[in-house]
Amino acid sequence: MALEHYNTTNQGDEHELVEAVESNAFVFNGVWIHANFLAKPIADSSCDVPNYFFAELKSDYTGFYCLSCVKMDLGEPRKLGGCGLCPRQIMHPVDGGYRGAKPFNDSPTTERCAFTF
Ligand SMILES: [Zn+2]
Repeated sequence: MALEHYNTTNQGDEHELVEAVESNAFVFNGVWIHANFLAKPIADSSCDVPNYFFAELKSDYTGFYCLSCVKMDLGEPRKLGGCGLCPRQIMHPVDGGYRGAKPFNDSPTTERCAFTF
């Protein structure tokens, strides 16, 4: 489902699921899921190295829907973030855009609640 969201918003760069890696569910005004998975481009058969994706899903009374699905760049560890709600092995985009976003190296003095509504 997250990949469908990615494929409709990134036409020409469609991917298919290779392997689900990690996911974490938490409850905050609904059920949220942060997930990492591997997917490879459908169009480019010469490139079979899967890309790493991050997806955020939320459920409400209508079911789950995808809020964001981001292709990660593992070659740039400084671009990885954390959300404070997930185990550290789940990688998050550092530029946020998901619930509970916070940079890995937030100093304790500047740490604050990152939830916004
Ligand atoms: Zn998370």
